Amino acid sequence: MKEEDFYPKIKECLERDYGYVCNNPFAKWKKWQKGFLKAGIGGETEGLISDIIAIDRPKGFWHNKDIEIIAIEVKPIFEHYKTIHLQQAKSAAIFAHRCYFAAPRKFTDSEKELATKVGVGLLSYDSNKNKVDIVIPAPRNNPDRSFVEHLLYNFEFRKCVICGGWWNYKFFKETKLPSTCSYSAIHKLLGDKSDKKFTVYLCDRCINKIGLLLRKRFPEIRKFDSNSKKIIKLQKTVYTLQREISSLNDKCVKLRKNLR
Ligand SMILES: [Zn+2]
Repeated sequence: MKEEDFYPKIKECLERDYGYVCNNPFAKWKKWQKGFLKAGIGGETEGLISDIIAIDRPKGFWHNKDIEIIAIEVKPIFEHYKTIHLQQAKSAAIFAHRCYFAAPRKFTDSEKELATKVGVGLLSYDSNKNKVDIVIPAPRNNPDRSFVEHLLYNFEFRKCVICGGWWNYKFFKETKLPSTCSYSAIHKLLGDKSDKKFTVYLCDRCINKIGLLLRKRFPEIRKFDSNSKKIIKLQKTVYTLQREISSLNDKCVKLRKNLR
């Protein structure tokens, strides 16, 4: 088996058994719909690319700012895995909170020692059982925040500028989960189509909080709200009356025809 053949298999195990998020089914870019494979910072040739990227999804993920990026370097079966292979996995530490080296066999004691020394975790893939075992858990790195954000943004996740929570912006719309979970680009809220570059997002929770805050602070807004309600009520009445008028008109036409 080639190295690439293991990517989707390991990815599926990580999703199934460890609850990691390894794709974005609603991304515009089809590559991310399938999986975060061969992904990272920069282009595929000159950038820093991992074979698989997973997002650890703690409780409350969709409004959680403390998510973790897991980068996995996969190698086929070699007789010995050397420092250079493990260091390749570790190089993702600039954008990943945890780095793993994965291979489709068990690891020797000296390889385990080496992994601990280099600071990467070890994943062993068993192709007969189609299972991934965490042989050594990866220690936590201190990745560059801007790289982390760049990567998540690239995967089409959005971040709320106030609470810092991350969100996959189409997820809730497509899955019909509560509409209380959505992010809006500020320029869209303001209807300002000219300023598309100012793509700053606010989650619905923060929008609601700002709304409440403004209403508390400025009674004029409350007045505006109650006026708006009155206007909506009046509009409904006008609509009902219009329908009544049109039905009466129809009756008139019929009656006139009968009179002739
Ligand atoms: Zn927020």
